[in-house]
Amino acid sequence: MTHCIFCPPAIFSSAKVLHQDDKVYAIEDIKPAALRHYLIIPVDHIATVRNLQRRKEDYALVEHMLKIGQSLLQRDAPGALQYRFGFHQPPFNSVNHLHLHCFALPYTPSRWKKFKYFSYGPVGVFLEANKLLEKIKPMHDNL
Ligand SMILES: [Zn+2]
Ligand SMILES: [Zn+2]
Repeated sequence: MTHCIFCPPAIFSSAKVLHQDDKVYAIEDIKPAALRHYLIIPVDHIATVRNLQRRKEDYALVEHMLKIGQSLLQRDAPGALQYRFGFHQPPFNSVNHLHLHCFALPYTPSRWKKFKYFSYGPVGVFLEANKLLEKIKPMHDNL
């Protein structure tokens, strides 16, 4: 077993958990880059988006992560300019445990430039959650 800060129980000491169910945790990013900046993290250790496949359970997990992110941001930042949801594209991931970044804009001006995932422009190296869902959508399933 490798040490992973996003696996339980480490996650409980690294951040305040905003939401928890049998599939995901939600925490606030320790260095928020926007008005609200949350991370949705699967309970199971999945390394990166490359480990996700065109499978019903993977699709359902990502869909669930997005849904939780949307509802938390709508609850906590109802007047936000815009919401963005995305995943790191390897090798630009910071932690090797899948996590969905959820932003309620505006970005924090003093902060966002420091983030490597903005190095190609805001959310440029990100894989938008909806794009990922398109990519892993099971082919012969009615969802
Ligand atoms: Zn982990
Ligand atoms: Zn990250």
